[in-house]
Amino acid sequence: MKQKKRIKGGVKTPHYKNTAKFETRVMPVPEKVEIPMLHHIGAPCMPTVKKGDEVMLGTIIGDSDKFVSAPIHSSVSGTVSEIKKRMFPNGAAIDSIVIKSDGKLTIDPSVKPPIVNTKEEFLKAVRNSGLVGLGGAGFPAHVKLNPPKDKKIEYLLINAAECEPYITADYRETIENSWNVISGINVVMEFLEIENVIIGIEDNKPTSIKILNDIADSDKKITAVSLKSIYPQGAEKMLIYALTGRVVPAGGLPMDVGVIVMNVTSVSFIAKYLKTGMPLVRKRLTVDGAVIKEPSNVDICIGTYIKDLIDFCGGFTEEPYKILMGGPMMGLAQYTTDMPILKQNNAILAFNKKQSMVPEQTACIRCGNCVRACPMALMPQQLDIFSESQDVEQLKKYNVESCIECGACSYVCPAKRHLVQAIKKGKILVKTKGQK
Ligand code: SF4
Ligand code: SF4
Repeated sequence: MKQKKRIKGGVKTPHYKNTAKFETRVMPVPEKVEIPMLHHIGAPCMPTVKKGDEVMLGTIIGDSDKFVSAPIHSSVSGTVSEIKKRMFPNGAAIDSIVIKSDGKLTIDPSVKPPIVNTKEEFLKAVRNSGLVGLGGAGFPAHVKLNPPKDKKIEYLLINAAECEPYITADYRETIENSWNVISGINVVMEFLEIENVIIGIEDNKPTSIKILNDIADSDKKITAVSLKSIYPQGAEKMLIYALTGRVVPAGGLPMDVGVIVMNVTSVSFIAKYLKTGMPLVRKRLTVDGAVIKEPSNVDICIGTYIKDLIDFCGGFTEEPYKILMGGPMMGLAQYTTDMPILKQNNAILAFNKKQSMVPEQTACIRCGNCVRACPMALMPQQLDIFSESQDVEQLKKYNVESCIECGACSYVCPAKRHLVQAIKKGKILVKTKGQK
């Protein structure tokens, strides 16, 4: 089955799925991990341990009483050696727990498969698992799976598009853990009473589409659908449009159009958690880019430092000029490899100087490429101008807050305008000055 609607806008990017064929490698336990108290959208957790405490694999080390949050667990067994402040990209200083590993991965006795017979027990189990959206957004899963009663959910959409170049972590999940993917979907369908499930996969991953369709075959309510490989096909609103033809209104949420979207690795994790009770303490990342010696998909303990992960992948072939956490379109540049990997991170990419040069921007030539590329039907060139002139009213009028920061506009701009950066500044202006 093909997608229903072609998304508006979008760009064709090279795929560079270099690691797609490589089986996931499991990285040995590092000497220490660092686990910040924020891996998700929402309230940070408070540490529930202190320096000197012994912890085990799966021990809760941070939690919050706020609804939009998720507990955080130790990914190793060992000793809390330090609780320090870790600076996040948004400028916030977050408590961060450093754990010296004893190398044994002794499992906490509290780790047991949960007893789940009702929707309430299911949602509680999802919260206790620490699951947040593993596609990059990091939204607490128990919140997403608990929409208000007046929102009737008709579709569960599984996002396996993985449209960013280089990243193949979700692809490997569909190949290596396909039964867990289907089993996790069935559980969500059952407890949320959702009848229709569509798995969206870009057409550059035919093996995933075949495997998932084959094993879901006995139940036609689950279908894996081939999506055109157009970036940002995997963006939530784009995926909903492509698979159902429904349009999420500006400022609205998927549940407003009867849809829940889950990342494919997230849903697979739910199946694993219900079987084992092991919370979210490990994850798979794609490590790639021109200066990585052995590009790989690697299964790591959450909180592993980037530098240790890169060493595991053979180190650098030459001095890196740019290191990204995430893909080349939406990833965040890192100023150091001394950064821990969080639950929602799905790639570490490292590039040489030539690949990393940010071209000088020149004057806009009014070509309209950015407008045609924008999947949110925005006018990026106008937003650029209003951001520069700090015109908050115009930024609001031109809907700057609807920008999903996908980078498609910058990608196609012949004048190399730094559109996303300008739009991000514009959003901050609206947030700080627009509410007055
Ligand atoms: S970054 Fe924003 S403005 Fe640019 S194409 Fe994406 S959604 Fe549109
Ligand atoms: S793509 Fe670049 S040059 Fe063309 S209209 Fe947009 S900002 Fe201007």
